[in-house]
Amino acid sequence: MTACIFCKIIEGTIPSMKVYEDEHVYAFMDIMPATKGHVLLIPKTHCENIYDMTEQQASQLFTVAPKIANAIQAEFNPKGMNLLQNNGAFAGQAVFHFHLHFIPRYDETDGFQLAVKTNDEAYTAEQITAFATGIRSQL
Ligand code: 5GP
Ligand code: ZN
Repeated sequence: MTACIFCKIIEGTIPSMKVYEDEHVYAFMDIMPATKGHVLLIPKTHCENIYDMTEQQASQLFTVAPKIANAIQAEFNPKGMNLLQNNGAFAGQAVFHFHLHFIPRYDETDGFQLAVKTNDEAYTAEQITAFATGIRSQL
């Protein structure tokens, strides 16, 4: 038997509030929602995070993502929506079964904060070009 709580949710041994299910993916309400309508979308076959996700799992999951987002949008009419996905404990991943968060946004005090601080002085254009070269060499 698996120790993964999201695998247990898929198996039905842990209850969940289902939103959507097909052959490949499962969507359900986050038990501790950041905002009203916070949903998680997961692949049915276990993978820990983005690094060990297959192209097929990614394709199946992201094929469904717009449908989930549009359903949340239609139901709650939020002002915006953050799609969030954490990889590794340092990045805030607590459950090690890939999951995509759908977090509808209502106002500045809606309980969710995401601060992406861009810094146009941190790296030179030459350094950023070298970063791109390095990443390309890893593909
Ligand atoms: P992470 O920090 O790994 O990106 O997010 C894990 C999410 O899973 C959290 O938002 C947390 O509230 C949710 N979660 C953890 N355990 C359960 C559970 O047993 N059921 C449901 N529905 N959500 C869970
Ligand atoms: Zn799992």
